[in-house]
Amino acid sequence: MDNHYFFFQTLCLIFYTGSLRFQKNRTKKNKEENRDDMGDNGRGFPTYCRCGTRVIRLTSKTITNPGRLFHKCPYGDENNRHHLFKWTDESMVEEIEDMKQKFDEIERASSTFEKGLQVCESEMESLAIETRTCCSVVSGYEKELRGFEKEIEDVKMELKSLKNMVVCVVVFGLLYKLFM
Ligand SMILES: [Zn+2]
Repeated sequence: MDNHYFFFQTLCLIFYTGSLRFQKNRTKKNKEENRDDMGDNGRGFPTYCRCGTRVIRLTSKTITNPGRLFHKCPYGDENNRHHLFKWTDESMVEEIEDMKQKFDEIERASSTFEKGLQVCESEMESLAIETRTCCSVVSGYEKELRGFEKEIEDVKMELKSLKNMVVCVVVFGLLYKLFM
């Protein structure tokens, strides 16, 4: 544990000296510009520092925050706000919050989709009812048509018998005239 802490301290020292050297090499104007650009405003786990360097994840070995994970720019530290320093648990909370927001959005979208689906289903159901009504109306018409056909057949039969009766009367009339 002590070895780790020593290693961490040395690493910090190396990075800090590196950052000092890095900053010294810049012109005053560039320094001012970069000071404005630096500091991470993004949410969630950071990937890059504003200075363009990829951030690293480390474990804190300090007495105030022992074992606490953090992301930082290799050129910065907790007290140097010109480079990125972010506690991983805080990033995690942001990630969870953003994820929850996304889930809420998905839930809202899915409920809207479900409502649309329900409307579609009810429309389909009413269409099916209309189709069934149409079918029953058509079958009613068919029955009526069959009834008409039967009536026409009956009328035809009546006409035939009437015709026979007329023929009989005429024949009888003629026979009466011939033989009487
Ligand atoms: Zn940086």
